[in-house]
Amino acid sequence: MNSMAPLEAGRAAQGCSSAPTVLRQRGQREVFCGLTGIVWLHRKIQDAFFLVVGSRTCAHLIQSAAGVMIFAEPRFATAIMDERDLAGLADANDELDRIVARLVERRPDIKLLFLVGSCPSEVIKLDLARAAARLSKVYSPTLRILNYSGSGIETTFTQGEDACLASLVPELPAEDGAAGQSLLVVGALADVVEDQFRRLFNALGVGPVHFLPPRRSTDLPAAGPRTRFLLAQPFLNDTARALEERGATLLPALFPLGVEGTTAWLKAAADAWGVSDAAFDAAVGAARTRSIAALDKYKDQLGGKRIFFFPDSQLEIPLARFLARELAMQPVEVGTPYLHQQHLAHELPLLPDTTLLSEGQDVERQLDRCHAETPDIVVCGLGLANPLEATGLTTKWSIELLFTPIQGYEQAADLAELFARPLVRRARLEV
Ligand code: SF4
Repeated sequence: MNSMAPLEAGRAAQGCSSAPTVLRQRGQREVFCGLTGIVWLHRKIQDAFFLVVGSRTCAHLIQSAAGVMIFAEPRFATAIMDERDLAGLADANDELDRIVARLVERRPDIKLLFLVGSCPSEVIKLDLARAAARLSKVYSPTLRILNYSGSGIETTFTQGEDACLASLVPELPAEDGAAGQSLLVVGALADVVEDQFRRLFNALGVGPVHFLPPRRSTDLPAAGPRTRFLLAQPFLNDTARALEERGATLLPALFPLGVEGTTAWLKAAADAWGVSDAAFDAAVGAARTRSIAALDKYKDQLGGKRIFFFPDSQLEIPLARFLARELAMQPVEVGTPYLHQQHLAHELPLLPDTTLLSEGQDVERQLDRCHAETPDIVVCGLGLANPLEATGLTTKWSIELLFTPIQGYEQAADLAELFARPLVRRARLEV
């Protein structure tokens, strides 16, 4: 858990013209760090290993966040750098080299190794980019070694994925000169969701379609000026920028949460491929209709319920849009760690006028606002959930939204269920 000191007092500011007012806060924040992303990324890239270069605290975080993996051969570990001064840096590099050599010997199946930086001062002194370049020379071409930072000083928990994917972009091969345009879906999705989207894109005649990250690091997709890309997650700013620098073009859209979001997201790709409205409806109509019907049973349970989001995953704004528009929930406050106006340009105007949008955090003030509002459900990080439950509020852990398949038509009802379940549990406790 990462707790940051105040930088400046909160202030109210006007958002973009069509968006609600934004309250910008730069006080203490309570969020997980970017190391947490390893928990879902190591499942997604099946031949990658994540070596955290960090402290015992980092090792504890990763072990407890990924505790469910005890029966599997792990593909993450922590190289613990004990207290060293600058004079000990040569030793630290030697130690890192020894750890990597042992890992390579024991795990020949690993094709991609990420050295993941953290925030202890001993680690900050280490130049992991240089270490990755040095080690790459030793192990190339059988093992590719990259680095990124999951440090809590620089990242909230979903930004670990952004940093990881951004580190992959320079490794993507150039486009084949004779190829036409291709679609790249950017952001880690559960395999089941990826397969569903692949089928829908096929039915639409949109393709070839590739996913970043790929399931195997040896299948890195090409990127270049004929690449059109869709963001599957709203927290991938650095990755998007790196792709644009490679000449790829972002297809702006809602994020694929709920029926409306999924339809708009697919439509953005369909439009880029010149698919007619009739062909679009024919391809997605059945899945969309099924999804609308599945959501229906949650309208009574969730309609009119007031929801408060603490800033954590950066999924908050698309989630609030889905819950307000498709289930008639009332987002009282929607907090987000960072507000990327460009990537959220389609989302922001769809939030209700009554919603307070807040960026950053000043946790004590936000807790006061939350208690004053007494919402029916609060979405927050693990560190805030228990204290809020103890005061009688019902909570939903935001991290669950990253571990659960929630994107696409088939998952819209599952997403609604994630919010209905804590309310049902609370109602039972109160009987
Ligand atoms: S990277 Fe920093 S915030 Fe994250 S677990 Fe390690 S010490 Fe804690």
